[in-house]
Amino acid sequence: MKELTMAIVGYGGMGSYHAHALIPDAAHIHLKGAFDIDPARQQAIADDGFVSYPSYGALLADPEIDLVLVATPNDRHKPLAIQALNAGKHVISEKPAMMSPAELEEVLAVAKDAHREFFTHQNRRWDPDFRVITEIVESHSIGDVFRIESRVHGADGIPGDWRHYAKYGGGMIRDWGVHLLDQLLFLLDGPISRVTAETSTILGNDCDDGFTVRLDFASGIRCVVEVGTTNFISLPRWYVKGTKGTAEIIDWDLAGEQVIATGVDTTAPAPIRAGVGLTKTMAPPTENAVRHAALPAGTPLAESFYDNVHDVITAGAARIVKNEEVLRLLRLIDAIFQATETGQSVGFE
Ligand code: NAD
Repeated sequence: MKELTMAIVGYGGMGSYHAHALIPDAAHIHLKGAFDIDPARQQAIADDGFVSYPSYGALLADPEIDLVLVATPNDRHKPLAIQALNAGKHVISEKPAMMSPAELEEVLAVAKDAHREFFTHQNRRWDPDFRVITEIVESHSIGDVFRIESRVHGADGIPGDWRHYAKYGGGMIRDWGVHLLDQLLFLLDGPISRVTAETSTILGNDCDDGFTVRLDFASGIRCVVEVGTTNFISLPRWYVKGTKGTAEIIDWDLAGEQVIATGVDTTAPAPIRAGVGLTKTMAPPTENAVRHAALPAGTPLAESFYDNVHDVITAGAARIVKNEEVLRLLRLIDAIFQATETGQSVGFE
């Protein structure tokens, strides 16, 4: 099996996470070194036992390097990826792949001319909670799914420095939004007919500190995607409705359940007092009308991100993250920006 040697440009939070937590698990890829414009991070590279290249040019001039990970602020992905491709390296870009679909098209054209592979690290396709939701949708355990609500809520505002500025590709749409939207595009078939969106700028940044997006798929499935950084009480990570039940995943530890209609008992529930009134509609179902089921284990993906990158480069394997999927994701993000600017829902596909 051919081994690949890799280097990282941008050794901050995520670059060093790749070095310590992700690349060591790759079967046939090993990390040789890295470069960062920050002297303190250059020192961290050496302290971690890797080659600390004196410049990006020196990294790219190393003939042992097959593959470069770009893990810098988002606005730097394009020039650094193009430089690496032109130096004959394969490239992985952290998400968002680029600032716009036009930028990605430009990079893919360079990759094609250079006969090199370009990948985007859409790692949350592998998240256990998302694999569980995938199994619920595919197995129809709660019937045909018609609504998916996907949320992440924090209370500490936008983290770090560059993420506060639009010019560096900051804001939550380009941060968590990229992950949550990618998951839904990967999961659900068919075109998205309409996109509706609102952003929040409560914290006074020049980019969004949170957003709510509604995607209407032509299939009839409606999705709500929400990211908040001012939520001192979090809503569940996933809330999914099907024709025969509802599923919920509360948190990253996969607390949650499925509540599924048995079809055995169709007796109307007795009215309950609600506030100062009475309701039949909102009364809980009778005991025999539903069963509570554990969440499924989750549909696994064929292989890890890095093993797939290796197999694409060395053996022409099928990609798990396809560039045309990433291009569609960036087009969707453009449509979301358009919807927030105009305050109108916009047609998409
Ligand atoms: P960070 O600020 O912690 O690190 C960025 C690093 O890049 C810094 O050390 C900075 O000095 C360096 N840098 C900036 N310009 C450079 C240049 N021209 N050449 C070399 N180094 C340069 O940011 P981060 O949180 O690590 O985010 C980096 C990237 O990773 C972003 O694209 C972000 O969206 C992505 N990210 C992805 C995930 C994920 O789960 N996939 C999670 C976090 C961050």
